[in-house]
Amino acid sequence: MEVVQVLHMNEGDGKTSYTTNSSVQKQAMLKAKHMLEESITELCNSGSFPECIRMVDLGCSSGPNTLQLVKQTIETVNSICKRLNREIPTFQVFLNDLPGNDFNVIFRSLPSFYEQLDLCKDKCFIAAMPGSFYGRLFPDNFLHFVHSSYSLHWRSHVPEGLRTQSGSPLNKENIYISKTSPPSVREKYLDAFRKDFRLFLSSRSAEMVAGGLLFFTMVATDDSGGHRSTVWELIGITIHDMVLEGLIEESKLASFDLPYYAPTMEEVRQVAGEEGSFELQSHEAFRVAWDSSGYAAGIGNGHGCTRGKRVAMNIRAVGEPMLASHFGVEMMDGLFERFAAKMDEHLKLNDGLGVAIAISMTKK
Ligand code: SAH
Repeated sequence: MEVVQVLHMNEGDGKTSYTTNSSVQKQAMLKAKHMLEESITELCNSGSFPECIRMVDLGCSSGPNTLQLVKQTIETVNSICKRLNREIPTFQVFLNDLPGNDFNVIFRSLPSFYEQLDLCKDKCFIAAMPGSFYGRLFPDNFLHFVHSSYSLHWRSHVPEGLRTQSGSPLNKENIYISKTSPPSVREKYLDAFRKDFRLFLSSRSAEMVAGGLLFFTMVATDDSGGHRSTVWELIGITIHDMVLEGLIEESKLASFDLPYYAPTMEEVRQVAGEEGSFELQSHEAFRVAWDSSGYAAGIGNGHGCTRGKRVAMNIRAVGEPMLASHFGVEMMDGLFERFAAKMDEHLKLNDGLGVAIAISMTKK
C-alpha cells in the first residue's frame, strides 16, 4: 500500500466528508489555543518582526480548521502589533497536505474568509503547497512559523518488519497495536515513528529561520502505562467480526496495517532531543473526546445521533478512503454501522477520551 495514494480525508462537503466531520480535531485545536497564543506572543516579543510572516499549516486537510488557525494566528499577531504600536506585517500562508487532498474545498471558502478577516486583503496571501511533510517542501531559511494539528501521527509508510521471516503477519487479527498484539509490533511502529519524525524535524530545520516557531498537536499515548483501547483497535475488532461473519476474507485483514502511530510525550521529546535542531519551549497533554463529531453538521446530541455514531462519522471521514481501497467500497456502510454499535457498547464502560499533546519548539 502506497500511503501517499490512499491517505486522504473524505473530500467535498457532504454528509460523510471531513469538512462536515472534523469537530474532534477542532476540539484539539481549541484546547491548544492558549498555548499557541502564548508561543506566538513569545515569538513576536523575542526578536525582530519580519515585514512578511511566512507560515505553513502542515496537514491542513479539507475542513474549516485550517483557515480557523490562519485567522487565530493573524488575530494574535495583530493584537500584539496594536499593543506595541507597530505596523501589522503581511502574511504569506501556505496550506500543505498530500497531493490527494481536496484543496478546492478550502479555496472555495476563501472569498468569505477574506471578508471575515480584520485585515486588508493585500496583507494576507494564501496558497497551497502539496507534498509530504516527511521531506522538503520549502527553500532554505524561509519559514517563520510552522504549524501542524492532528497530522503527525500518520506515518509515511506502513512500518517495516511486521512479518516474520517466513512472511506470516505478526499482527494478524489487528490493524494497529492492540491488547493482543505481540510487543514486537509496538517496537516496529515506534521505529517507523522515530524515522519519520526525525526526517520531519530535519526538513523543517532547513526550511525555518533561526528563532522560528514550530507548534504542533497530535494524537498521543498515555505515558502512565497500561493498555487503553484506541478507536483504531476497535475498528480492527469490527473488521475481525466481519471476517467471522464471512463478509471479509481473513487474508485481507491479515495483510492490512495502519500507517499510524500515536507516540508518548517522552518518545516525541527523545527524538527531538536526538535530532537537536529545536529547543523545546512548552508542552502539554490533554484529553480529547472521541465523539464530538457531528455537532458541526447539526446532527449531534439531541438530534437522535448516538455517541457511537458520532465517533463512527469522524473515523469514517478520516479513514474511509484508505480502508475502502483495501477492503472494498462496498464494505464501508456495514463496517461503520457495526463500528458505531460496538462503540456505543464500549462507551457504556469507558470514558471515550483519547490523549493528545501540544508541543511548542523554536529553531536553534
Ligand atoms: N489539521 C487538520 C487536518 C487533520 S487530518 C485539522 O486539524 O482539521 C490529518 C491530515 O494530515 C490529513 O489531511 C492527511 O492527508 C494529512 N497528512 C498525513 N500525512 C501527511 C504527510 N506526510 N504530508 C502532508 N500531509 C499529511
